[in-house]
Amino acid sequence: MIAIVHHPAYVAPAPARSTYRWNKNGLIRDLLRAEGDRVAWHVPDPMPQAWLEAVHDPDYVAEVLAARVPPAKTRRIGFPVTPEVAARAQAVPGGTWLAAHLALEHGFAANTAGGSHHALGDTGAGYCVFNDLAIAAVRLIEEGTVDRLAVVDCDVHQGDGTAALLAGRPGIATYSIHAEKNFPARKARSTLDVPLADGLDDDAYLAALADSLAPFLAEHRPQLILYQAGVDPFAGDRLGRLSLTLDGLARRERLIARLAAGVPLASTVGGGYGDDALEIARRHVAAILTLGEAFGAG
Ligand SMILES: [Zn+2]
Repeated sequence: MIAIVHHPAYVAPAPARSTYRWNKNGLIRDLLRAEGDRVAWHVPDPMPQAWLEAVHDPDYVAEVLAARVPPAKTRRIGFPVTPEVAARAQAVPGGTWLAAHLALEHGFAANTAGGSHHALGDTGAGYCVFNDLAIAAVRLIEEGTVDRLAVVDCDVHQGDGTAALLAGRPGIATYSIHAEKNFPARKARSTLDVPLADGLDDDAYLAALADSLAPFLAEHRPQLILYQAGVDPFAGDRLGRLSLTLDGLARRERLIARLAAGVPLASTVGGGYGDDALEIARRHVAAILTLGEAFGAG
């Protein structure tokens, strides 16, 4: 059985003036429900405020939780922070943290949301409110669950927020492989960045991933991997600049599992953009099921 983390608050009603596809997480839940007994469901607690504040500016945390984020930050996020969006923003890092604990128990677990890698210390950005990867990583280290962990980010956009928030944190290494010319224009510095040229196909992408991630993991020897499994490197993605096929994405997940080489891995979703939300959800679910199979859980 594949351990899946989902919270009802993930499925928030779309705020007005939002270009983000709000039904994606509900569709992911529905597609995974259709897998029946192959999936074991887990509901996270919202991340306690103190752990949000261990990564984000307490003033920004207060603005989000009270749903009174100033307009300049709202514009940067890409949608207004309503009370429902605030509840979602607090539930998602709880889910990534729970998925990490389940991964340590079962080898693999997936959060059906998260991967909010653009959120910075004092503001959200790029459809991200709180940085679930950074919050979970810091809590896992500080509570003593693991001594060393890695955040591996395969979203087509650089994990700039994650890199900035986790820089210099003992025991944490960050890896991002992304299209160099894509958002964000100003990149942060991950422990290891792998910038890619536009239009890369399956074989070139997978070679770049294997050639860089294998030595990264060998050097940092994480006891746990938090994996941002964005599906926006897909050729048909509205905001991607790479040219992976669906088969290429599946090969990516199997390669990630092989390179993890027995190190527990918790996946989050991440970017995936287009007009057909169901197609996007299918790509995220395919990533979760392929990873589950590769880790021997599915
Ligand atoms: Zn992305």
